[in-house]
Amino acid sequence: MVIVGASVAGVRTAQALRAEGYAGTITMLDAESAEPYDKPPLSKNLLTGAASADDVRLFGEGEAHELEIDLRLGVRAVSLDLGARTVVCESGERFPFSQLVIASGARARRPAWASLTGVFTLRSMADAAAIRERLVPGSTVAIVGAGFIGAELASAAQAAGVQATLIDPLATPLARILGSEVGALLADWHRSKVATEFGVGVTDVSPEAGSLRVTLSDGRRLNADTVLVGIGVELNVEWLLDSPIHLDGGVLCDASGRALDAWGDPVPDVFAVGDVSRWFAPGRGAHVRVEHWTNAVEQSQVVARAVVDPGGAAAHHPSFAVWSDQFGSKIQMSGYTQAEDVVVVIDGERWVALYADGGSLVGVVTVNWPRLQMLARRTIASGGTRDVMVEQAQALREHAAAARPGG
Ligand SMILES: Cc1cc2nc3c(=O)[nH]c(=O)nc-3n(C[C@H](O)[C@H](O)[C@H](O)COP(=O)(O)OP(=O)(O)OC[C@H]3O[C@@H](n4cnc5c(N)ncnc54)[C@H](O)[C@@H]3O)c2cc1C
Repeated sequence: MVIVGASVAGVRTAQALRAEGYAGTITMLDAESAEPYDKPPLSKNLLTGAASADDVRLFGEGEAHELEIDLRLGVRAVSLDLGARTVVCESGERFPFSQLVIASGARARRPAWASLTGVFTLRSMADAAAIRERLVPGSTVAIVGAGFIGAELASAAQAAGVQATLIDPLATPLARILGSEVGALLADWHRSKVATEFGVGVTDVSPEAGSLRVTLSDGRRLNADTVLVGIGVELNVEWLLDSPIHLDGGVLCDASGRALDAWGDPVPDVFAVGDVSRWFAPGRGAHVRVEHWTNAVEQSQVVARAVVDPGGAAAHHPSFAVWSDQFGSKIQMSGYTQAEDVVVVIDGERWVALYADGGSLVGVVTVNWPRLQMLARRTIASGGTRDVMVEQAQALREHAAAARPGG
């Protein structure tokens, strides 16, 4: 077994393979030289200094030795010779395989001006360390892109005493993933926490007298000491370009992670997991690429089982579970959160949005309400109705009100 990529998808696949009893050799390659680490803390407690590099380590030589996994760091795959069943690396090394797992993930998308001094993207531990050095109290930072990572960067910057401005070309930046009503709630919430420029893009960034000049699409200009960019990713698929693996918005896979060729047939013994992959999601009737940690973990379990028991490969039904820590609040979501039919129950600083399709609960977003998140996830999994969850949320809100002094 060769696994290309030793981040969460690759590491969890290797661990799951051993847990499932896979007895063959496992070689796991990664282009980075750093020991594998988890990425979610890079924009959260690692950036604020509440966690150290040791706290976010995902896998080390000790565990590699214990599980008999040959971990090769600083080794970049440059091509896949499927005929010879070999991964070819930049160093000239060749890794023959009987099974291959593609877990090469993604990298931050970089606009043309991203190479300027003072402009950063965030995908690696080194990026996080460089950004942390720039978060000097009293300095200014412009954050381009108000998705989850952009908002977390704004939150960390503000916590460090930095004056942050969060910029996004969309008036309601999260509407695309949460629908317009919930997107608007979060946009208002962000406006209450940090300076925002929503509905205007950044057309250019240029150096100006020791700082950076950010030009907005409406012609206005901002000055910032640092510019942080969170505008999505590009997939690490260049090494697959000359292979028969079908690339279509990711490595196209069936519902158990088997990579497909251009005719839609599984390529024997080749799987893909994590951000780089685009699996068929039976509940949606479409291939979906998901850029979230929990999804990578779920997929790695499915692929490990499919490798060990090819005949028993089961279709995976993703939970689409995600979390984000911002401005002292925890946002959690799961299921299908673009359904138009949504009911929001607000209880002070905590709230829940419950999405329904034909009366059934299909998606949930919570802010500071983990208990409801868990209840809703169970309801989604069991095909329960949205109305029951709305009643539960209202009952919890009333219970909390009654418990407050004077309530
Ligand atoms: C700052 C940040 C915060 C995040 N926060 C959250 C969060 O709060 N919640 C959440 O659900 N998700 C979050 N995510 C997303 C989550 O971290 C990703 O979904 C997850 O890292 C995907 O894992 P992966 O293994 O598929 O890919 P990646 O983590 O992208 O790893 C791919 C690995 O492959 C290696 N590689 C690439 N090309 C090659 C090659 N040619 N040869 C060898 N190795 C190669 C890379 O070096 C890398 O180590 C966050 C991501 C970032 C960057």
